[in-house]
Amino acid sequence: MSVTPGPAGTGTEPAARAANVEVAARPDNGPDPPAPHLALCGGTVVTSLDPVRLITADVVIAGDRIASVGTAPAGVARRDCSGTLVMPGNVCAHHHLYSALSRGMPYRLEAPRNFLQILQRIWWRLDRALDEPAVRLSALIGGLDALHAGTTTVIDHHASPNFIDGSLDVIADALAGLGLRSVLCYEVTDRDGMARAAAGVAENRRFLARPQRLARGMMGAHASFTLCDDTLEACAEAALAAGVGVHIHVAEDGADQQDAEAAYGMRVVERLGRAGLLGPDALLAHCVCVCGREIAEITSSGAAVAHNARSNMNNRVGYSPLAHDGARVALGTDGIGGDMITESQVAFFRAAEAGAATDPGWPLRRLAEGARIAGRSFGEPLHGMIAPGAPADLTVLSYLPPAPLTGENLPGHWVFGLSSRQVRDVIVAGELVIAGRHSARVDEAEIAQQAAGEARRLWARLDEIPPHPFTPKGG
Ligand SMILES: [Zn+2]
Repeated sequence: MSVTPGPAGTGTEPAARAANVEVAARPDNGPDPPAPHLALCGGTVVTSLDPVRLITADVVIAGDRIASVGTAPAGVARRDCSGTLVMPGNVCAHHHLYSALSRGMPYRLEAPRNFLQILQRIWWRLDRALDEPAVRLSALIGGLDALHAGTTTVIDHHASPNFIDGSLDVIADALAGLGLRSVLCYEVTDRDGMARAAAGVAENRRFLARPQRLARGMMGAHASFTLCDDTLEACAEAALAAGVGVHIHVAEDGADQQDAEAAYGMRVVERLGRAGLLGPDALLAHCVCVCGREIAEITSSGAAVAHNARSNMNNRVGYSPLAHDGARVALGTDGIGGDMITESQVAFFRAAEAGAATDPGWPLRRLAEGARIAGRSFGEPLHGMIAPGAPADLTVLSYLPPAPLTGENLPGHWVFGLSSRQVRDVIVAGELVIAGRHSARVDEAEIAQQAAGEARRLWARLDEIPPHPFTPKGG
C-alpha cells in the first residue's frame, strides 16, 4: 500500500493488461498540463458504472485529474493496488450533514406519530440548537464518515436558523480540510419567520457568488409547505441569477400535497413549475407522494430526483413511484450517514420489495446519475468516469473476488459482496485523502473527541427547545 517511486513494470503485474495508454489531450494554447504525480497500479479498474466497464490497468493521476488509464510511465510514484477494485468515487445526492451529531441523541417528548411530528419534535428542534462550532463539527464528522465509505462528493442541504450568515463557508472549509468535494446550499424556509427566510436566500446568494476549488453551490429551499409564493419567487430569482438549480424536498409526505392543494389549489410539482423552479439543474429530493401528472412534469422538465430509500423507510412515508422508473434518479441518504454502498444496496432491496423489476445494475446506474449531477455543478461532464481528463475522484476497495468477476457480473458483486469496510484509499481531486483507511489530512481521534463534547452541549441546548409550532395548511 505504500507509495514508492519506481520504473514502469515493477511490482505485481497482472497477466492481462489494458493495451493502450490514453493521455489527456493538451488544450490548444493552454498551459502545460501538470506532470503525473501518482499511479494506482495493478488494480481491477471500473472505468464506468453506466454501463459497467472493467479493465486491469494502472490509473495515472496528474494534478486534479486522471491523465491516463493503461500502463504507468516510469518515474511516477506508484501505489500498489493489486487485489483491489479501483472505482469512481461515490456521490451522495442528498445529505444533511447538520444531523451528524444526532447519533444516539436522547428524546424525551411524546413519540412522533407522523412525518410532520418527526419534523416538529426532532429536526426542527435540532436545527435551531445549532451554532457555529456545532455546524463545523457536524460537517467534519459527517464528512469523514462519507470519505471512509468511498463517497467523494456530498450534495448537502443545510439548516441552522440561529446561525445562517456564513454557515455555508464553515461547512465548505471543514469539508475542504478533509479533502471532500461538496455541493452546498442553505435551506430557505418561512417556518422560522420571514427575516430568517430572507437571511437564507442571502446566504445562498453570498455563497453562490464565490465558487471554491472543492465546493459549489445550489439554491436551497426546504419544501413547498414551508414556503410562501414570495419566498419561492426569491429562491427562483437567486437561482436564475447564479445560473444554478434549486435543491428542494418534494412531496416527501402527503402533508406537502395537502398544504399545496389547500393553500394554493394545485399540486406541489405544478406549484414549483409555475415558480420557475423546475429544469435540468433542479434536484428534487424524495418525490414520494407524486401523481402521474406530476411524474410527467418532472420528467419533461429534465429535473433530477434524489431517492432516499432508508430515510423513507425510517419515516414510514412510502415508496417513490419515480425511484425505479424516473428518468434521472440518483441516491441520497437524507442525513443517514454518507455510505452510498449501503444506501444503494438497501435501495435495491426496497425496490425489489416494492415489486419493481430490479437488476443489480440498477443501483450502479443510480450512482452514476449522482456523479452526473455533481458534474453539472462543477462543469465536469466526465465526473464519475475513470477516463483521461476526468476529475481524479476515486475509491480503492480491497477485494479478492471469491467468484469470477467480470464487467457483466460486477453489479452482483456490488449488491451482495461489497461493503464500505473494504474501502482502503480515497482520492479526491487527485489527492490521496484516505490512505490505508486513515485520513491523510486530519487527526480523526481528536475530531471525534471534540465532536463528543460538542454533541453534549448541543443536546443540552436541544432539551430547552420545545416542539416547533409551524403547521402547514390542509392537515
Ligand atoms: Zn432531506
